[in-house]
Amino acid sequence: MFKPKTIYFEKDIINYELGKELMEKYKDIPKIEIANHNNIEELRKSENKEFLNLKNNLIIGVRKTHKFVENHKVSDYLVPYTSSGCSAACMYCYLVCNYNKCSYLRLFVNREQMLEKIIKTAEKSDRELTFEIGSNSDLILENTITSNLPWTIENFKNTSKGMLTFPTKFDMVDDILNVDHQGKVITRMSVNPDEIIKQVELGTSRLNGRIEAINKLKEAGYKVGILIAPVIMVDNWKELYLELIKQLERDLSEQVKKEAFFEVIFMTYSYVHTKINEDAFPNAINLYSKAQMTGRGRGKYMYKNELRKDGEIFVREQLGKYFPNNKILYVV
Ligand code: SF4
Repeated sequence: MFKPKTIYFEKDIINYELGKELMEKYKDIPKIEIANHNNIEELRKSENKEFLNLKNNLIIGVRKTHKFVENHKVSDYLVPYTSSGCSAACMYCYLVCNYNKCSYLRLFVNREQMLEKIIKTAEKSDRELTFEIGSNSDLILENTITSNLPWTIENFKNTSKGMLTFPTKFDMVDDILNVDHQGKVITRMSVNPDEIIKQVELGTSRLNGRIEAINKLKEAGYKVGILIAPVIMVDNWKELYLELIKQLERDLSEQVKKEAFFEVIFMTYSYVHTKINEDAFPNAINLYSKAQMTGRGRGKYMYKNELRKDGEIFVREQLGKYFPNNKILYVV
């Protein structure tokens, strides 16, 4: 269970039910009042080597930006929801890029306002829309602190239209198994070879736990997907990912195998990641490879086109062999 070292809070949070609950829950934790959760100077100015320590803080505020961003993958819109950042530390996490070192967990207590906007947009639309509520954080992890997921699902279930979706790398799903979701939620489990989880996805759940969790979610009637992401081209990557696909075929329940769709994302990386990771994790694996990667603007790197193409052919072939009846939504 995550126990924050210090809580940074905006004073308005006590005007919200969740804000009051969190202040009570953490009454014994040292607190610092802040004017704005977006700019906490003493944290922003910390050195890169403090990256992991920064993740021990919890920031609680009110979300002011509610802009939906169009998306064309599983969802129609990426929606800013109840948290940003995360207390885990995957070495490639794109939130690091967006927030630099400040990718610590920020909770937003105005959940009523955020969910209301989703519901209104869903009901106004003349087609069925899907809203990605987990693109800024990991909601299963966040839920262990806020219980926001049962609250969200309960309050969304009676809408006349619309679906919610979120991905996760965590296995603590028991809290939502008995919630009446009315088939309106698509849960997607993000997986990687256990070897990679151990070395790179620091602080997340191990592969066996994630597989068990998605089996439980399917058993509880949720719609499910499997996200193989990000594919990291370490030396023996084809061997590792083939083993992963075989393990999924062996350990996913028949129900999951019957229904799950796949998404596949190759890793992107950045100059910011290289700088933070070399200071914060000096003994860790180096994810940057000059030979394999090329720039794609603004300090970002991706695998070279020919490698990525070969990678895509490989993954599609193996998924086609072990999961011939499951849809691959996209490979990017
Ligand atoms: Fe980032 Fe998700 Fe890993 Fe958290 S679990 S560090 S949000 S990739």
